[in-house]
Amino acid sequence: MNKEHEDWAQETLGIRIGHHRTGEGEHSEPIFATSSFVFGSAAEAAARFAGESSGNIYSRFTNPTVRVFEERLAALEGGESCVATASGMSAILATCMAVLAQGDHIVSSRSIFGSTTMLFDKYLSRFGITTDYATLSDVSDWQKRVTPRTRLLFVETPSNPLTELGDIRALAKLAEANGCVLVVDNCFCTPALQRPLELGADIVIHSATKYLDGQGRAVGGAVIGDKKRVGEEVYGVLRTTGPTMSPFAAWIFLKGLETLSLRMHAHSAGAQRLADWLAAQPGVTRVYYPGRADHPQHRLAKAQQSLPGGIVSFEVEGGRAGAWQLIDATRMLSITANLGDVKTTITHPATTTHGRLSAEQRAAAGISDGLIRIAVGLEALDDICADLRCGMA
Ligand SMILES: *Cc1c(COP(=O)(O)O)cnc(C)c1O
Repeated sequence: MNKEHEDWAQETLGIRIGHHRTGEGEHSEPIFATSSFVFGSAAEAAARFAGESSGNIYSRFTNPTVRVFEERLAALEGGESCVATASGMSAILATCMAVLAQGDHIVSSRSIFGSTTMLFDKYLSRFGITTDYATLSDVSDWQKRVTPRTRLLFVETPSNPLTELGDIRALAKLAEANGCVLVVDNCFCTPALQRPLELGADIVIHSATKYLDGQGRAVGGAVIGDKKRVGEEVYGVLRTTGPTMSPFAAWIFLKGLETLSLRMHAHSAGAQRLADWLAAQPGVTRVYYPGRADHPQHRLAKAQQSLPGGIVSFEVEGGRAGAWQLIDATRMLSITANLGDVKTTITHPATTTHGRLSAEQRAAAGISDGLIRIAVGLEALDDICADLRCGMA
């Protein structure tokens, strides 16, 4: 990022950073729909391939539209480098391939995205990389699981669906003391609400599919961090193995970043009001939301996030039947496991996102049959509440 822009606020960075206007004088960022780039001469081609001159070669390596998204997101997260990827999962895979080798060990929070657990347990394990799972909120439990082979700490905070928090500052200290890399999946908060690199994390992961897009249109991801680890090592994995972001997807995401701050503030304000409204409903037995004083980590949420975020979970009476009845009685809310959309979504974790766990594992994770998760969109809150009221006795 240009030095003179370092003091710009998030809102301004999200709109203004990354676009290097072409000679056409376009106002909006162009889509460079090209797989390769031409050189002025054979000598220039040779210099570029040899890495002696900078510039585009091939869109698996770099593309100007993707570059705008990367520069913009790097600025928002306060990182030196950003590498865009085809999905959130390929962002996590590329990071693991860049940081880890055979025999290395990961300590991860237990309640992470289901496919991330599969990546660690089913696939990385085949290459001699093992993973232990710690209780997200208990730093001493993380400490106990770190071994001399541990190279990577992986944390997703707040957790899905119970909005439990991990203390990023404390985990960063633990990582540093043990020569590990702290990776934070910042999908739920986005840089508009939480900047893990400022709190001491080494690498931030995004599924751009969620709030960065914000309107449920495309699948993508990103890795943000320092020049060496991300700009060279993660980039090297990506350039060789190929899960790059397409220019079309990058254009959607970079336009999404322009409204990110505005949207995240609105999602969070809506979620706060919904959480308080739910807590006052007779059929609701418990509400999980970091913005409420009854959340066990309310103070930590205030210390590391600027706002509590857009996800609210709650328990209803009647177990699975009660939850399904409420979900099925809604008319407007979308029954889908996705999140980070302007459209409000409603999910029954026990039979969808967490359905593959055994009943015992779910109980240990605190995912009851009566639990419902809502990712609050940007419809009028009164309409969201009215829709939920249809299913409340
Ligand atoms: C969706 C999600 C991912 C995976 O991202 P994809 O874009 O679906 O590959 C990773 N982490 C979290 C927290 C997610 O919600």
